[in-house]
Amino acid sequence: MQEFDVIVIGGGPAGYNSAEYAAHHGKSVLLVEKKNLGGTCLNVGCIPTKTLLYASKVYHYANGAGKPYGVTAKEVSLDHAAVIQKKNEVVKTLVQGVAGGLRRKKVRVVNGTAKLSKDNGALVVSTEKESFIGKNVIIAAGSSPVVPPIEGVKEEFEKGTVMTSDEILDMTEIPKKLLIVGGGVIGFEMAAYFQEAGSRVTVIEMMDKVLGPNDREVSLLLQQELEKRGVTFYLSCGVTKVANGVVTFVRDGKIDVAAYDKALMCVGRRANSNIEGLAELGVRTERGAIVTDAQMRTNVPGIYAIGDVNGKVMLAHVGYREGEVAVNTILGKQDAMSYDAVCGVVYTSPEAAFVGMSEEQAIESGIPYTVKKVSVNFSGRHVE
Ligand code: FAD
Repeated sequence: MQEFDVIVIGGGPAGYNSAEYAAHHGKSVLLVEKKNLGGTCLNVGCIPTKTLLYASKVYHYANGAGKPYGVTAKEVSLDHAAVIQKKNEVVKTLVQGVAGGLRRKKVRVVNGTAKLSKDNGALVVSTEKESFIGKNVIIAAGSSPVVPPIEGVKEEFEKGTVMTSDEILDMTEIPKKLLIVGGGVIGFEMAAYFQEAGSRVTVIEMMDKVLGPNDREVSLLLQQELEKRGVTFYLSCGVTKVANGVVTFVRDGKIDVAAYDKALMCVGRRANSNIEGLAELGVRTERGAIVTDAQMRTNVPGIYAIGDVNGKVMLAHVGYREGEVAVNTILGKQDAMSYDAVCGVVYTSPEAAFVGMSEEQAIESGIPYTVKKVSVNFSGRHVE
């Protein structure tokens, strides 16, 4: 069996970045990917959604929002099928870029589903065809969208009327009525695009606010902006059934219904910890995510877990940084992961960026704080 200093399972941002970083520091590296290099982020996540949102932003400005600046356009339209084609081109270019980057760093890339085992105390990673020994194994297997156990969802999913973020990014037609269950960042960005592209969007969210735990005031501001454009939000509402074009949900303790043509489930993501052999090696998981310390080590020596699979913060740049920490630990360098100042962006129009704690989290933690507000008009570029 061929031996590598580092074997990385998963070719998403966490995986490809850690593989390149380890190779850059002189380690022999193997990366195993079962589908496409680039993982969720490049193929069905950050990049495709940002391409769609960019198209809708251009459309929005051409369609009248650019008028105060003297820009007018005639016969403006958004051709969704062409947007999807552009999205596919962008994805292809970036995936090729990742393959090129790995090649340049001399990382060996193998296509296959990795499983784990031990042979005479050594860690073994096997695909359907080959087995390899890894002095260190970095698990970067990512996450998958949750299909919630709501009545009717499984059947509608099989019919193609209910989708997750994976499927909707390949849909080439704009549904007249789009229902989005879940108003977190992913659901919210989808609502912004599809409303602009011509759908009548309804978002049903369990919490009393959109955009998850992000700052309440800013979340409300963005929600109101989408409401002005026609999106309907039902907050503090639980969906009980999705079937035959009708969603049933509980609103103020009463049953309510709304019609849909297509429905999108954006209720969260589950860590891909279902790797064969993981449990047999005794790797600890909690609620499906692999447990790690600040050096990204699991409880099994030589095995690390980075990116979405450890369930800590499901963002691409967090996975990048966790990969650096894992590799630095392998290199014997002192490094530790900190989640205190993670930033996140909602790429709607207007956009919003967040970093660190929200005001509500500071209140909850009893941390003293000051609020400073500055109008965007202070920035010459943004005078309304
Ligand atoms: P992934 O990207 O999921 O990659 C994991 C890879 O591992 C996959 O390619 C998978 O095929 C492979 N794999 C799994 N099991 C095995 C196995 N046994 N053997 C071999 N290969 C295996 N984040 C941002 O920072 N900004 C954004 O704007 C943003 N937008 C998003 C929009 C959407 C719609 C979604 C769904 C996500 C978005 N994210 C965004 C989150 C981001 O995509 C993830 O945080 C990121 O992709 C996680 O990277 P990862 O490498 O941990 O996992």
